[in-house]
Amino acid sequence: MENKGKQNIVVVATGNAHKLVEIEAILSGAPAMAGMQFVALGDLGDFEDPVEDGDTFAENALIKARAALDETGLSMAVADDSGLMVDALDGAPGVFSARWAGEHGNDDANNQKLLREMEGVPEDERTARFHSSVVLVTRDEDGEEVLVGEGDCEGSIAHDLRGTNGFGYDPLFELLDILGKRMAELAPEEKNAISHRRRALDDLVERLAK
Ligand code: IMP
Repeated sequence: MENKGKQNIVVVATGNAHKLVEIEAILSGAPAMAGMQFVALGDLGDFEDPVEDGDTFAENALIKARAALDETGLSMAVADDSGLMVDALDGAPGVFSARWAGEHGNDDANNQKLLREMEGVPEDERTARFHSSVVLVTRDEDGEEVLVGEGDCEGSIAHDLRGTNGFGYDPLFELLDILGKRMAELAPEEKNAISHRRRALDDLVERLAK
């Protein structure tokens, strides 16, 4: 894809400083993004969060990216949305991951709810994955171009909490790639190398090259 943006700024629709660093580090390696400067939405003004009422992670990421373009008038935006999908719960909590137990971002309450919901579920039915969708939207006088990268990180839901790193459901998430280890036991660099977000960003970089 050509870089059609008039400005060389990519607005990153996240309030999370770590995500900004990760997104910039990976996307700036794509030839199509050469010379682009990545700026967090929050550094461009005080904007209200849009309502994330999409049915999928990609739809919610698109809502955030489009809102960032509407608010800033810029021509390129990146946004991500992610969550946990548990097979025994038919893919829940899914797009409701952050507010599953009621209050937005209450990780302790969400983890306790997950433990309760998984009570009695046998070992071989506790499979789950983190999913991330990363969306890049480019606007110009001809309209809008949307590219979506998708990534998964496979694992299963444990019976107790372990580890203090990361956030969200990390202490309950046992990695398939590193058996016996919880996501919350990985150092940040280790997590960033295998995470669903990493894989979604890599997927987006591949799509940018096509
Ligand atoms: P967000 O897309 O980063 O806002 O994530 C939404 C919610 O999904 C978070 O509040 C967490 O509950 C869950 N989630 C997303 N990514 C992760 C992760 O890497 N580890 C643990 N939980 C996550």
